Amino acid sequence: MKNFTVIAIDGGAGTGKSTTANLLSNQFNLLHVDTGSHYRAITAAFLDSDVTPADAGKTQNLNKIELNSAISKMKSTITINGLTIPQGILRSDKINSIVSSYASIPSIRSLLFDYQKSQIELARSNQFSGLVMEGRDIGSIILPNADLKLFLTADETIRNERRELDGESDQISVRDHLDTTRKIAPLTRCIDSVLIDTTELTKDEVLSRISQLINNL
Ligand code: C5P
Repeated sequence: MKNFTVIAIDGGAGTGKSTTANLLSNQFNLLHVDTGSHYRAITAAFLDSDVTPADAGKTQNLNKIELNSAISKMKSTITINGLTIPQGILRSDKINSIVSSYASIPSIRSLLFDYQKSQIELARSNQFSGLVMEGRDIGSIILPNADLKLFLTADETIRNERRELDGESDQISVRDHLDTTRKIAPLTRCIDSVLIDTTELTKDEVLSRISQLINNL
């Protein structure tokens, strides 16, 4: 493993990205950055101020948003205007159903581009051995020079089951369709990523496969 290791994990909803990133973070002392939660937080802030997706990209609305980070339990959490939005809101049915609409707005993506890039410096200055960032465009756009790029997939049935186990109602195939067909930064597998199908693997099996890859870097 290198002095400072950068890992990008991409994939659709329910493929195991968060569980895997969390395990890797603990095993290798990596800052865990969940970029889906950034889009969820911005969506929640706009919904709270009654800003629709049609208006969310306007400069006067984006200028009202100040992004910062707080680190807790090896995870970086986004704050908006100094506030952390509770998980219960971020993972609510309402946010699940509309987050992809806000995530397809170019000016929201460029606001988050700078913020997400800055997480590398945050990891360094807080003495992490690297960072593991999960999302949809991490290997392709946010961290194109990552030391290791992973792309997770899983059968739709198992992905739905995982969401139900999490107690969430989430139309994952609808969200995946929106995320893979949008014009800007669509969810797609980079050619230099390692594909892992998690359908029939336990989380420890996924961890062990990736750990081998990291140890060989
Ligand atoms: O990962 P999660 O399911 O929490 O992501 C919520 C939504 O945020 C995705 O469906 C997608 O629309 C958006 N997203 C994105 N780019 C990322 C991460 C998430 O567009 N890097």
